Amino acid sequence: MPPTPDRSGLQFQGTPAAPGLAIGPLLVLEDDAAPNDAPAPQAGLDPEAEAGRLRAAMSEAVAELAALLADLDAESAGIIEFQIAMLEDDALIDPALETLADGKDAAVAWRAALDTQIADYEAANDEYFRARASDLSDLKDRVLRHLSGRALPAQDLAGKVLTGRDLTPSRFLETDWTRGGGLALRQGSPSSHVAMLARARGVPMVVGLGDADLPDGGEALLDGESGLLIVDPSSAERAAFADRQAAARRAQAAEAAFRGEPAATRDGTAIAVMINVADPAELDALDPNDCDGIGLVRSEFLFHGAAGLPDEEKQYRAYRRMLEWAEGRPVVIRTLDAGGDKPVAGLTMAEESNPFLGLRGLRLSLAHPEVFRVQLRALARAAPHGSLKVMLPMVTRPEELHEARRLFGEALTELQEEGKACAAAPLGMMVEVPAAAIAPELFAEADFFSIGSNDLTQYVTAAGRDIAAVAPLNDVSHPAVLKLIASLVAGAQALGIEVSLCGDAGGEPSRIPALLDCGLRSLSVAPLALGRTKAAIAGIDLGAPHG
Ligand code: PEP
Ligand code: MG
Repeated sequence: MPPTPDRSGLQFQGTPAAPGLAIGPLLVLEDDAAPNDAPAPQAGLDPEAEAGRLRAAMSEAVAELAALLADLDAESAGIIEFQIAMLEDDALIDPALETLADGKDAAVAWRAALDTQIADYEAANDEYFRARASDLSDLKDRVLRHLSGRALPAQDLAGKVLTGRDLTPSRFLETDWTRGGGLALRQGSPSSHVAMLARARGVPMVVGLGDADLPDGGEALLDGESGLLIVDPSSAERAAFADRQAAARRAQAAEAAFRGEPAATRDGTAIAVMINVADPAELDALDPNDCDGIGLVRSEFLFHGAAGLPDEEKQYRAYRRMLEWAEGRPVVIRTLDAGGDKPVAGLTMAEESNPFLGLRGLRLSLAHPEVFRVQLRALARAAPHGSLKVMLPMVTRPEELHEARRLFGEALTELQEEGKACAAAPLGMMVEVPAAAIAPELFAEADFFSIGSNDLTQYVTAAGRDIAAVAPLNDVSHPAVLKLIASLVAGAQALGIEVSLCGDAGGEPSRIPALLDCGLRSLSVAPLALGRTKAAIAGIDLGAPHG
């Protein structure tokens, strides 16, 4: 008998947001159905009973969030702690309770009250408050799920390809991704918080699938590299996908073998490979022997909590912990790089017409010396605990570097006068503003350079790093960007200043040959990219021409 013709699956094209391949049943999330699924407005209900239901649903939501906290890194825990604090604040529930007095259903009252508050947050001038609207909508849905008895136990999400309009960070964090699975969202963005989390945890993610009608329970093949989702695949499609998945696993295993070894090209040139750290909690799972040090600490993690700006002691402890982890290897801590895509409540300016060209990075620190001073003191106190280097972001003119050095010296003198243990540290700069990359000789005072290819690329190509529509233009391989990097490396060498690169391009195997061709011999990459970076380096012959 001839084999039954095997129909191809349904194909949906979206935008890749996190690489990787996932196979699993599609799970349409309740959140997505909730807006059309609202309980019919009812009147004449018992206000006391409805208030009790609402309070119970809120406590269940708090308990669910609190259970998540134990396993989270500092940044993720900050998101959840903030949500718990909001749920426990009477200001959130009071407007809903007031309308219950009219005999409304608790879910109707809760939804209406939260929708009003969300609209207020969305209309705020301050970017920080606008960003909080998504937290509120996350909370709204969570409480509604409990009110309707539809709360989905977290274990039901594991191993599935989750789909829906968008996904909230708390939903992402409560899902056990160790069992596989992925995210296929109808809306969403590659620069969202969830996309960042997905990339950091290796969870395949595709966004922008549009109005696709995705069948709950259908088998899904999700390709986070190309953005393609296939539902109910043919056996041939499934087999081909499974083959690719197996090949990817083999490649990962091969890369893992490189992870613990020093990096060198095929012709034997040693390349330093350091790591970028955005949260000290990441270090707990890492072995310092796998890297040549920390090439970039994004100190913004300290400034995102709900508790306001961090004091000297809190900063000092965090810096010291990272220095001790590195066991004598260099640790480059960047001073606060707030502004642009990294707003900090109460510090960065709201309503800048073009925040990436605005008061960000060192510019902001110099405009707020009272905040900068606290960070410089904490760094000077941490310096005796390891091999600290201090790095300044967004340096544009030598006067800024000079002023930062003066303030660092002042902080040291103050600490010495107070009898506190402290030490000086090399002071270097990010090269991410074209003005600095074009004329490195202006910055001969710097103790080291580190190329911020993320920002440098967006400034050279005039294509924003967070704008999906211009993503193909925002390309580090543009000959103009590479030419600039090569001339900067040569300029640094002429000045006798060491130079490294800490932008994301350093951890992308397809970009590494061109970066080494520019003369770079030191890269700093995401910890997850350590194995693949070293594997890619091992495949490069610097003596041979390549394209
Ligand atoms: C960069 O701009 O390349 C960089 C490393 O810094 P950030 O991504 O934090 O702006
Ligand atoms: Mg930058």
